Amino acid sequence: MSTTATKTAETNAYDVALENFDLAANALELDDNLRAMIKYPERELAVSVPVRMDTGKVIRFQGYRVQHSTMRGPAKGGIRFHPNVTIDEVKALATWMTWKCAVVNIPYGGGKGGITCNPKEMSMGELERMTRRYASAILPIIGPEKDIPAPDVYTTPQIMAWIMDTYSMMKGYPVTGVVTGKPISIGGSLGRNEATARGCFYTTRASLVHLNIPLPQARVVVQGFGNAGSIAATLFHEAGAKVIAVSDTRGCIFNAKGLDMPAVVAFKAKTGSVAGFPGADRITPEALLALDCEVLIPAALENAITEENAHAVRAKIVSEAANGPVTPEADRILDSKGIFLIPDILCNAGGVTVSYFEWVQDENHLFWDENDVNAKLEKIMVRSFNDVLKIHTDKKVNMRLAANMLGVGRVAEACRIRGLYP
Ligand code: NAD
Repeated sequence: MSTTATKTAETNAYDVALENFDLAANALELDDNLRAMIKYPERELAVSVPVRMDTGKVIRFQGYRVQHSTMRGPAKGGIRFHPNVTIDEVKALATWMTWKCAVVNIPYGGGKGGITCNPKEMSMGELERMTRRYASAILPIIGPEKDIPAPDVYTTPQIMAWIMDTYSMMKGYPVTGVVTGKPISIGGSLGRNEATARGCFYTTRASLVHLNIPLPQARVVVQGFGNAGSIAATLFHEAGAKVIAVSDTRGCIFNAKGLDMPAVVAFKAKTGSVAGFPGADRITPEALLALDCEVLIPAALENAITEENAHAVRAKIVSEAANGPVTPEADRILDSKGIFLIPDILCNAGGVTVSYFEWVQDENHLFWDENDVNAKLEKIMVRSFNDVLKIHTDKKVNMRLAANMLGVGRVAEACRIRGLYP
């Protein structure tokens, strides 16, 4: 964890987001007027979140909600509860959401929110009071037609339920479409919990086909064993690939013969970590990233692969389940090594895609079965992968630039057609 924290301080995620925008805008030869209209966040809200802790003491937390774009539809993006949350991190994540929604061609802009806090040290009561106070503070700018939050790091379906309830109480009637990633009992979608990992699986499987690597021969390494990472690891295991290493903040485990994923998931559920799993060796976080494998899935936080450790990466494919896990310097190194990268705004877009399905179901009061959700998700992920791959091969640019060109290009086109108000 300390490694990530240090790197996050060194590499500003928002600078990375702006740099990636400029590269895409240059490649698209976008004119300066369009750039000025779509590059920066439309709205940034900073809020104070005072919370009565269980001791009776009131602690004030810093919260944010950023709407980067509403050019193609309402702002959409998760809420993060983490000690490293800063306004620049939220702005970067909101910016990436805009291009991501455009890459998968769903009718949303981009937004993101967060509270600088350590939810691991808070009781359920404290978390609920903090969530409800934060929800009421951002309430004027959210809503099913304006901005629709969702879960992100250390936020859960329960937290989404508290936001939905707070919003509904203020309005005086139930508004299920105000957040996605809700529990099924209050308008959540079947398949939402697994959607990010499923999208990562579909795009990685398509990359393996593209590189002529049979899936059963793929050795998979996963950094971060939360929602995205643990479910992606399980999907690869179920498909016949060998998951040889996984990690979380407390440790990394490795078994060259393959880890028994259901057993690792059960172990983590019981002990709170993968560290100490019997039948595996403990390795360092640096060694995990340097393992000889076909697929490396960073599924933790930003800036996991940097110029210091990128040279050591031996994977053939890097699948960015996390947002912003590879710094621009590391990008260039992976590129020069011929590593095939599936960029975050494509690889982890399954989450927002099924969030979109959830919102559509809520607004129509008509719910789909899980097979329907997964089939629609697969169609969108495969189509989007092929769209990005086509730009990659036709324009001879790397996959990150290809995805950014697709996303930025679609937002620029919407902006051009809408024109400048007033
Ligand atoms: P999560 O809170 O469920 O899991 C995060 C996991 O990463 C935890 O297991 C934690 O222990 C681990 N971790 C944190 N720092 C680590 C480190 N330095 N080394 C190893 N492990 C570390 O979060 P999540 O929802 O799975 O999100 C993970 C990433 O995926 C984030 O970048 C998030 O923005 C992105 N993402 C998530 C979704 C979603 O729907 N959940 C959608 C799109 C993108």
